[in-house]
Amino acid sequence: MGDLVFASKLVKSFKNTVALGGITMSAGRGMNIVVGPNGAGKSTLLRCIGGLYRPDSGSVRVLGMDPYIEDDARRRVSLLSDNYALYDRLSVMDNLRFFGRLYGIGDSEIRKRSKTLLEKLGAYEYSERKAAELSRGTKQKVAICRALINNPDIILLDEPTAFLDAVSAEKVHLMLEGFAKEGRSVIYATQRLNEATRFDAALFVIKNGRLSNQIRTEDLYDETLKGSMVNIRTANRVDARIAKKTPHFDSANGRTIKLRVDGYRDINDAVSYLIGEGTYVVSIDYTEPVIEGMLGG
Ligand code: ADP
Repeated sequence: MGDLVFASKLVKSFKNTVALGGITMSAGRGMNIVVGPNGAGKSTLLRCIGGLYRPDSGSVRVLGMDPYIEDDARRRVSLLSDNYALYDRLSVMDNLRFFGRLYGIGDSEIRKRSKTLLEKLGAYEYSERKAAELSRGTKQKVAICRALINNPDIILLDEPTAFLDAVSAEKVHLMLEGFAKEGRSVIYATQRLNEATRFDAALFVIKNGRLSNQIRTEDLYDETLKGSMVNIRTANRVDARIAKKTPHFDSANGRTIKLRVDGYRDINDAVSYLIGEGTYVVSIDYTEPVIEGMLGG
């Protein structure tokens, strides 16, 4: 089988806003990341692929079917949107049972799957809690489990880790990677560069409702690091004369050397120089590059 998801010249507008301005993309098995700033069109794209929105023009094919029209496509695709769609008054397990039954899955199978999924995300202990009583992060975990309960071939996730701490987010990442390795297609929308570059994935950069050409992770870093400030922290104090000669030096303060860089290569140059001068580098921090700057405005 070729591409699991194929979109052609997809256009979707809301009144005067063009959310998608003609997107053509194909996504296969494995991880696919859609990255772009707020308002870029990520949610709208996922909703069109998930069959929730009918595009104004253009077409979407999921497993060869039109997801807006064909139920069978929708059965094999799951969408986790920013609306978690859980019933507040039902327990976590009852929520999962409810959604599982909609797919015609038997209760014992639902229970088995729910347990496995919740355990993977460290949320099994909340099984009998009402959804209303859960923290936002735990709700998000349960919603992810709900989206996976039907064992979909294609899973679409819109900022699935927005409310999770780093450890929980990593659990989600690992679970989805496992899913992708099984030959399914994961389409994951994020506005966070660190998250986008976390995966070995096909990257789709979206801005103003349009996709850039498919780009590699290195290119994305090069684009977004342009003009960034980077702090290199050292274990030993660096002599001011040595510090000043660091490539791309901006300023120094105690054990921190500040650089202004235009890409990851500049960071490498600076670190190589400092190590050559007998400096112990302990960390490199950058303010996460502003994704708004992608694709040149
Ligand atoms: P993202 O998910 O990348 O933040 P969205 O797909 O949510 O972007 O939105 C793309 C554009 O479409 C934005 O300008 C947004 O305001 C607009 N938009 C999205 N959904 C609606 C809607 N239901 N009604 C009106 N405007 C919308």
